[in-house]
Amino acid sequence: MATNKRRNKKKGSCSCPICDDLIEDETQQSIFCEGICNTWLHRCCAGLSKAAFSGLEGSAEKFYCPHCRLQDQAVEISSLKEALASLQRDVAALQDLQTTGNQSVASSPEEPVLSNPRGPLPSTRPRHPSNTGSDRKFNLIVSGIEECASGTTRRDRLSHDNEKLSSLLTSLLPNFSEQSVRDCSRLGRYSSDRTRPLLVVLNRSCDVTTVLSNKSSLANRPNIKVNRDLPPSLRKTRSVLLTQRRHLISSGIDRSNIKIGKSELYVNGRKHGSVVGQEYKLARTQSEPLTNSTPNTPSTFSSTQSDIDRAPADVQESS
Ligand SMILES: [Zn+2]
Ligand SMILES: [Zn+2]
Repeated sequence: MATNKRRNKKKGSCSCPICDDLIEDETQQSIFCEGICNTWLHRCCAGLSKAAFSGLEGSAEKFYCPHCRLQDQAVEISSLKEALASLQRDVAALQDLQTTGNQSVASSPEEPVLSNPRGPLPSTRPRHPSNTGSDRKFNLIVSGIEECASGTTRRDRLSHDNEKLSSLLTSLLPNFSEQSVRDCSRLGRYSSDRTRPLLVVLNRSCDVTTVLSNKSSLANRPNIKVNRDLPPSLRKTRSVLLTQRRHLISSGIDRSNIKIGKSELYVNGRKHGSVVGQEYKLARTQSEPLTNSTPNTPSTFSSTQSDIDRAPADVQESS
């Protein structure tokens, strides 16, 4: 024990480095400093009251004189300064990467591939308020991926989410690699009673289309929902279309025969209706029986092809 160690130290003819006077064991109290001093000091020179001194005598706590504590702090401060400088270099490097990414978005809006050998960057910035609709085509909203409990470190949370996302995307994207994902972050504030959706940013918009067209393979994982990141202005439309789709399915139409466009619904390749002013309006041709509809795809169909995907009937969209 430290107290024993203190007691057992042979003081011999020790002089106190603070006052340069000899320590008289018979008449003076003294304490051993475990710091750079590594020697005995007068109790008073060590800045200790009698009460503090007797408290220390009974404890196993190591004693450091004020000088050594300052010295320790100086060492800690310089190592903190070093860590800060290294962080500043990291931030500068990240800012460079971000600038490179933005430039490639500007020069090639279709496929801005951000080369990042260390995999997806941890998300540190909130979504930019000027995020336009065209940016969203790289985005996916993934709901139902379990979230780490509160108290989990940020690093562990990010690696958990990235792992779960990677294993999900592996089954939805045949050519999936770590480079496919640019960013992945939880949306909204943490709450213990719900799982926050993940905002996933892919590097290629065609991968978004592929994932959405393959999401029927998630049928065995009903909790997981993968959706397009719709701009707020389109969410209401989407919600109206999904409600209408549910009506059609419950009226006996096979869900595989119903396709959802940007603001229209197609049944058997024929326009069934569209959303006008947030309400569903039946198409004029709807008076013809569905069974007699021609299999020909309407001309408007191909123009919205990329927006067609199969959404589960129970998707909840908020507006
Ligand atoms: Zn002294
Ligand atoms: Zn000391």
